[in-house]
Amino acid sequence: MEEVLGKILAARDKRAALRAEISNSGRASLSLNLNIPGYPKSNEKIHLCFKMVLSELTRHLLSHRILVDVSAEYCATDEAGDFFLTPLLEENYAIEEVKQISEQFEESHPLGRLLDVDITNVSGEPVSSGKAKLCYFCNEKPALVCMREKNHPYHDIRNKIDSDIDVYLNNLDRERTCKDLASKALNSLLYEVALTPKPGLVDRFSNGSHDDMDFATFLNSASVLSVYFRDIAEYGYTFTDGDLKKAIPELRRIGLLMEDDMFRASKGINTHKGAIFLLVFSLFISAYLISNQKFSYRAFVNLIQVLNGDLVERELGRKILNENQTHGEICFEKYGKKGMGIRGEVQAGLPCVFKHAIPVLELHLLNVNQVSDKTLNSSLTHALLALIANNDDSNILYRKGVEILEELKQKAQNAFVHFNDEKFEFLYQDLITYCDKNHISPGGSADLLALSYFIFTANKH
Ligand SMILES: [Zn+2]
Repeated sequence: MEEVLGKILAARDKRAALRAEISNSGRASLSLNLNIPGYPKSNEKIHLCFKMVLSELTRHLLSHRILVDVSAEYCATDEAGDFFLTPLLEENYAIEEVKQISEQFEESHPLGRLLDVDITNVSGEPVSSGKAKLCYFCNEKPALVCMREKNHPYHDIRNKIDSDIDVYLNNLDRERTCKDLASKALNSLLYEVALTPKPGLVDRFSNGSHDDMDFATFLNSASVLSVYFRDIAEYGYTFTDGDLKKAIPELRRIGLLMEDDMFRASKGINTHKGAIFLLVFSLFISAYLISNQKFSYRAFVNLIQVLNGDLVERELGRKILNENQTHGEICFEKYGKKGMGIRGEVQAGLPCVFKHAIPVLELHLLNVNQVSDKTLNSSLTHALLALIANNDDSNILYRKGVEILEELKQKAQNAFVHFNDEKFEFLYQDLITYCDKNHISPGGSADLLALSYFIFTANKH
């Protein structure tokens, strides 16, 4: 113990010497350390926490235009814990002002009194605001009093610090994860619509088989939907009830809101209804799994099945009067398994996505860091073909019948198989012409493409 104490004191002496060195050169300095009582003063978790606090502090100073000498920064972890020291660059602010701004940082930070931002003036003296810090543990008496009187058992203080740091790091992870997933969801919608050329679908230069919507309609719709993505991710990340099905009403409520906003933005055109359904569930599941450190394709499939259960029987198997039947119900009644549409796909655990599209995306993009427009376009085209070739799209089935659907799938399969050879251009153009001529829009496969790209990138989180 004595040896440890010696090392801690030596580390503190070194800090004082560094500080003196800066003031001897005629500059003021700023330092950061964490008030960790006892030993060890740092470990992996504390160190990570320190790095996060430091980056927040740097941003706080910069936002107040307080400049530090980056070239002379000192940052180290030793027996006295994590420590950061930097000279302040001479600017038009008083040193008391710097003290005030750093105190404001300490006071507004969730770890508050655990943080120590110290300012030393050009004469090497500590700058104090005269405020006595309250005790970290009880928040009642001054910190110095509780320390002197040994008011709190050491282990209680360390446990509180440990759990406070857990909460802090978890919050940062939640924010990072939810921002990340939300941007990936928007990305997947934008990449899908920007993919050009596409058979029968709206792209950058063509409206495909649609005369009521164009590229701009899709951008408008994606923009209003994007507002919801982070909320859904937050809901999934913080969902703690063991019974996931309890999340369904809230997910449906958000989905309905999104549909309203979509119809308003697109002037009544259904651009993304299928994608909304798929992305709402997928964002929720991804965030939930990431927060529990369990994200994998298998876990994802398992949860989407848990959440949707017997979707087909529940939503398509109703026995009602013919004139009130939805397209989905008519297809299911007429074609059985083949007519189950997106509900059948979800109930089966998204085989089109996981068996057909994602393997293609992995083939093209798995080891690529910076994806170019060209690479993206070709990999998404390949994945879209895999989807059209395997997806029994109930919209096409309902509008065009089983023969056209099968012919479409066959043409997509042909182009898919010849993706890497000289026949491809001809076969792909043939598929596009076929869709134009027959007014076919494989919108269901476009939704699944956006979903596949989202899940693929969520997995790279
Ligand atoms: Zn206390």
